[in-house]
Amino acid sequence: MPQSNADLIRAAKKVARFRRATDEVTFGHVGAALLTDKGNVYTGVSVDAWCGLGFCAEPSAISSMLANGEHRIKKIVAVNSRNGAILPPCGRCREFIYQVTSDKSVKVILTEGREVPLGKLLPEQWQEKAFKRRH
Ligand SMILES: [Zn+2]
Repeated sequence: MPQSNADLIRAAKKVARFRRATDEVTFGHVGAALLTDKGNVYTGVSVDAWCGLGFCAEPSAISSMLANGEHRIKKIVAVNSRNGAILPPCGRCREFIYQVTSDKSVKVILTEGREVPLGKLLPEQWQEKAFKRRH
């Protein structure tokens, strides 16, 4: 069953609810939703700890996808719990999406009517072969 951008945005907003787990940890400031090539939707939330640990909503949704045995993302979106605004993925998440999928055609939703391929947001990704290159 195809999912529209509006459906994915709605799924991200559903989990984007700022809450407190403990005195030191809050979560849900940002919610993310992704659509896989099999048509499944996975969601995740950001987690922030006072000590500086935590992670964005996108890797949280990706982890949920991986836990269900999938790894091919068609589209992904993240929204701010405060105002519902769509948030482009941070640099770390752009890289992480690429590393998990090896696919720069993954669509990143920037507005309900606008999506761009990951490659446009991440023209140069980390490459293992460059890391192994001798100086
Ligand atoms: Zn991020």
